[in-house]
Amino acid sequence: MEEYPVSRKPVLFRARLILPMQGPPVENGAVAVERGRIVAVGPYSLLRRTFSGRSVDLGEVALLPALANAHTHLELSVLRFRLTPTGSFVTWVKSLLRKRAEFSLEEVRRAAGEALKELWREGVGLLGEVGNTGLTLALLREAPFFTVYFREIIDFRGTTELKDFLARFPEARMVYALSPHAPYTVSPVLIQAIKSWTRRRGRPFSIHVAESPEETLFLRDGSGPIRFLLEERGQFHPEFRAPGLSPVAYLDRLGVLDDRTICVHVVQVSPEDIEILARRRVRPCLCPRSNVFLGVGLPPLPDLLRAGLRPCLGTDSLASNDRLSILSEMEVLYYAYPEIPPETYFLMGTLWGAEALGRRDLGALAPGFRPEMIALSGSFSGSDPVRGLLEGPKKVEARIYEDL
Ligand SMILES: [Zn+2]
Repeated sequence: MEEYPVSRKPVLFRARLILPMQGPPVENGAVAVERGRIVAVGPYSLLRRTFSGRSVDLGEVALLPALANAHTHLELSVLRFRLTPTGSFVTWVKSLLRKRAEFSLEEVRRAAGEALKELWREGVGLLGEVGNTGLTLALLREAPFFTVYFREIIDFRGTTELKDFLARFPEARMVYALSPHAPYTVSPVLIQAIKSWTRRRGRPFSIHVAESPEETLFLRDGSGPIRFLLEERGQFHPEFRAPGLSPVAYLDRLGVLDDRTICVHVVQVSPEDIEILARRRVRPCLCPRSNVFLGVGLPPLPDLLRAGLRPCLGTDSLASNDRLSILSEMEVLYYAYPEIPPETYFLMGTLWGAEALGRRDLGALAPGFRPEMIALSGSFSGSDPVRGLLEGPKKVEARIYEDL
């Protein structure tokens, strides 16, 4: 893979196909970069005439924004290939907790470092990383990614005090935020407190929601394997009363759904739930390969899109996925829902992910955006080059990124 770090000097990148994500694809196009920002996108023949800087021909590739992986847990990378699908969500959670304890900090750190390299090769430039220990913070500081680091809170008894959490995080490439793990592992009052913490600071808020049927059952009447798991771990709160609502309706009643809330998974959702998500303009984050691994089904993508939502994509962790590839996540959904225009899948993997993570300077090739780009080779010679690219084998041939 070729790498093109860009500085403040002007460069013109030419490619067979440009996918700007704002506006239609441009055949034989170019992207002009100057002073660390994209300044123009259009036909190569046109831009070349007025451009005075260096020109780089990337060749027979599609040039698009670097991909956004809006949901992953790098700390779990050490569990790759060590857990098998069981068909039961709670059984998987239990084996994850058991296995995770078998590894040393050094092994966890090494696996996370390898995972970061893989994400880079797979074309990811923006990450929504969910961490429990802070261990990946140091790795991410050294890496060329843009990151929203979500400190994850798991506390059904609800005793965590938020005042100790880092409020300021002065790094250009990183934003610090909080994430309650799920409606069944964090107390309602704490979920609300976390939301007001992120709301006050204008940061994104991320929560796993409507992933498994067990979650739905627990919130409906307080029973099932999740109840037993909480009791087993000494986390069950004796005063807890099941809300008798769907996971989405429950979060809505808590008042934590808005356009800065990332709802991860949204597999177990009814038409009424989708209506709520759309009304609150939340950001669904879909992790289809993880859903398939855990046997919980696939999210109803056509219904989400029809409701006007702009879903983004995540790989979730290597404990429920064997790859960290946003392109593969796009493929899974494309094969499940081929009626959806191929451009939509690229939007989910780029611009909509950046929007969900609150980055208005990433995810599109347009004036003012940062020049975080990837060049993809593939078969895009037919009448619909974007569909050809999505369907066929593809490879990240080059990365263009800011040399900050
Ligand atoms: Zn997750």
